[in-house]
This record gives sequence, C-alpha cells and structure tokens, in this order.
Amino acid sequence: KVRVRFAPSPTGALHIGGVRTALYNYLFAKKNGGDMILRIEDTDSNRFVPGAEAYIIEALTWLGIKFDEGVSFGGNYGPYRQSERRDIYRKYVKQLLDSNRAYIAFDTPEELDAKRKEIDNFQYDAKTRGMMRNSLSMSKDEVDRLISEGCQYVIRFLVEPNIDVHVQDMIRGEVVINSSILDDKVLYKSADDLPTYHLANIVDDHLMEVTHVIRGEEWLPSAPLHVLLYKAFGWEETMPQFAHLSLLLKPDGNGKLSKRDGDRLGFPVFPLDWIDPKTGDKSSGYREAGYYPEAVVNFLSLLGWNPGDDEEIMSMDELISKFDLEKCSKSGARFDYEKARWFNHHYLQNKSNRELALEFQVVLKAHGVEDTDLDRTEKIVSLLKERVNFVHELWDQSKFFYLAPETYDEKTVRKRWKADCPKLLMEMSEIISGLDSVQSEPTESVVKAWIEKNEYGMGLIMNACRLALVGESKGPHIFDIIELLGKDETLKRIKLAIE
Ligand code: GLU
Repeated sequence: KVRVRFAPSPTGALHIGGVRTALYNYLFAKKNGGDMILRIEDTDSNRFVPGAEAYIIEALTWLGIKFDEGVSFGGNYGPYRQSERRDIYRKYVKQLLDSNRAYIAFDTPEELDAKRKEIDNFQYDAKTRGMMRNSLSMSKDEVDRLISEGCQYVIRFLVEPNIDVHVQDMIRGEVVINSSILDDKVLYKSADDLPTYHLANIVDDHLMEVTHVIRGEEWLPSAPLHVLLYKAFGWEETMPQFAHLSLLLKPDGNGKLSKRDGDRLGFPVFPLDWIDPKTGDKSSGYREAGYYPEAVVNFLSLLGWNPGDDEEIMSMDELISKFDLEKCSKSGARFDYEKARWFNHHYLQNKSNRELALEFQVVLKAHGVEDTDLDRTEKIVSLLKERVNFVHELWDQSKFFYLAPETYDEKTVRKRWKADCPKLLMEMSEIISGLDSVQSEPTESVVKAWIEKNEYGMGLIMNACRLALVGESKGPHIFDIIELLGKDETLKRIKLAIE
C-alpha cells in the first residue's frame, strides 16, 4: 500500500511551497489509494516556534488536504512527533555505532571553527577525521572517560569515500553522486539527546513504512546521504522511492520564492495570516485575503505539474484522478500571482448568489452595515460578481446600494453635470414618481420613451442620474440600480443632487 508523509519542521508559518508539497503528496496518495501521514519533525529545539504546528494543521485542513494518520489524527505508527520518539532513535544510533557505521566525536564548536580557518573548504570526512577528536582517533578508554566526565559529543555517520551513490528520482531519473563529496553528517547530539533531521527522517520513514518520499528540491543534496543511511541500516530492500519537486520561483523567474518575499512583492506566500511570536511581525495569508481554498488548491496544483491536456479548472477529485508524479516538471515553476486571482474569480462565479450574499453580509457588517434584506443583497451580488475576484471587493462596487453618496466625484461632476441637468432630472423624477413600480425593464421603456419624445440627450440624462444615485460614474445598469434602490430612495437621491 502506498504511504506518503508530509513532514514539516515547526519553525514558523508553512510557506506556500510547503503547501504545494503537502498537496502533491495528498494527490499522489489518493490517486493510488494510499495513506497520507503528518509527521512533525521537531528535533531542532533551537528553531522550534510555538504555534507553528497548530498553524500547519489548520492551514491544510482549510485547504481540504486530509491526513489518514499523524499528529492530531492518530494512527498505529505513532508517536508522530519526533521529539516524542527519543527512545526509538537511541536504539538505532546505537545500532550504527555497534556496526561501526558511525562514530563519536568530541570536537567543540571552537575547535571546528579553528579547523575551518586553518584548512580551506574544510569538510569532516575520510580525509580529515583522523586529525579530529573522535572515537576513531582515540582509545576506547579515553572515549569512555570523556563521556563519563559529562563531555558533550555528537555521533557522526561514517561515510566511505569514493563510492558512487545512485539515487533514483521519479521526476529526475537517476542521479549519481560520489560519496567523497559528502561529509560525515552529525546524526545525534548528546546535548539535546536527540538525533538530527537526517537520522530521525530515515528511521521514521522506515518504521512508518513510507513508500514514497515526495519533497522539495532543496532536499535533493541530502538524498545520497539518505540512501547511504538506508544501506547502513540494511533497509535497502524497503527504501522508499524519491521524488524531488522543483522549486517555486519568484514571479520574474529570478530565484526561489522565499518566505520574505511575501508582502514585499504584494501577495501572500502563506496560506493563513501569521504573526511571528518572537518579532510580532505579521504576514498575510490567502484565506484572510479572501481566497477560496478550492482556488488556492487549483492554482498550486499547476505550479510544477499539468495534466497534459488544456484543462486548468480542476476540483480536488479531478486533480486526484489526473495527477501523475512523473509528469512533474524538473525546472522551477514561476509563481504567477495574477493567475491566483484568476482562479479565485472563476470559483467565485461558480458560487450561488445566495452563498455569495451570505458571505457578503459578513463584509457589510465589517463596514458597519447591518443588512436585513438578503434577497436584495442576492440581487446586488448577481449584478456585480463578474467584476470582482474576491467577495470583499463587492463592497467597493456596491456600497452606494447601502449608503447614499455623501459627496459627488469632482471629475465626473465637471464632465457630466451640465447646466440643464437639474431641470431634466426634475422632470425624470416626476415620471418615476408616477410609476406604480420601478422594476428595471418597464421603467427603462417609460423613461426612454420620455427622452425620445422630447429629443433629450440620452447620455446626458443617464450620466447625470448615475451621478445622483451613485456619486460617481460607475455601477451596473442604471435601471437595475433604480429598481434595487426603490422608488423613494431614488427620488430622494435625485432631489438631493439637484439641490
Ligand atoms: N522536516 C523537513 C522539512 O521541513 C522534511 C524534509 C523531508 O520531507 O524529508 O522540510
């Protein structure tokens, strides 16, 4: 059975690139009838940020990316938080030590720094490990003594030089790397009594029976080390398959889209708003910016993959049925933010007017308008939704339906308000006031007949009337406005404008 995991480190808000990784894992799992696991990789206590884990879960839940197992979801392979798995890791670290695949090193940070200064491009490896303070260059008694004295140490992986390491990647094909370029990575730190990412990641993927590791390209350089670790443990047979997803690039294609790009480039790079607990800095998220989760999912799905047909609009179910890891692109995907808006526009048009009206009532309330006529708001929404990408944008398009204009746009007044406008609008008021109802269609015919009969300027009157009712030269069809304002309000606004 296919088993994949999303394994974020709780170091802050989940970046949109991380969301895409989670999404591709989910699509792949569901396509193949598999399970998706949420594992929290919190072995680096220095980088731990409170609230990050809850944020990740909330964000993915909002987007409809569901887990079968993991932190907050339960399952038979737990605990799923790495900081709760110390005992497990200890055992596997010992296994590597006992089989001489790893060794103990006592070098202090100062000693390592000194070596880096002394030797250009210093790397802790087969060439240099002999000159360092470790269990390979010391007697067993010495090592035991240092440990019993409470000296802090790390455990390093013993990388044999000059071996070609083959990594099979489902997206990139075979990648071969010579082990001589790898260093003896730290696998465990006595100071924390915790393993590092590399060890914990491999042990957990093995114990959790993960079949496919789908993650960002930034982990590709670690993959050879991971392959060597699987070999060292004797787990080659069940080693997961790898797929490294290409990076998300800045909109101009110049470099990787980073966490800092967020509001700086004028769009969110996080799924939800986030306030950094240390600095108090606020970053904006897609949800609060007014995006629908379906739009975000659809948008992200196409950053680095496409179904091979021209289809762009796809629901989660369609994505699942079409998704193919092998069709993911090797090159980076530009983050085309305009496209995100376009998707939201599309999903907004597909909502029922009723749904939109209910959503819009929340926006109205935030603007101090207590709307009591949902049917009317539904009509207003239906007239204007094509013009917006987000429900909150309806406010700017429609506020004159709820609040009479307090001022008139100066430019429009200069251009459109001619000397005979008051007289003409007065006449129009009389006609409207004589009508039983101001429904759009019949009103339009009556008013137009009056204009034609008197050979008045149609544009002149319509523009002046719009200015009176809206306060500027925008809005939907003028007779739709009249209908929705109602007779009394229409007459009141015209009267006010004339004075
Ligand atoms: N904890 C790693 C991260 O934060 C996981 C990388 C992996 O999927 O192996 O991205």
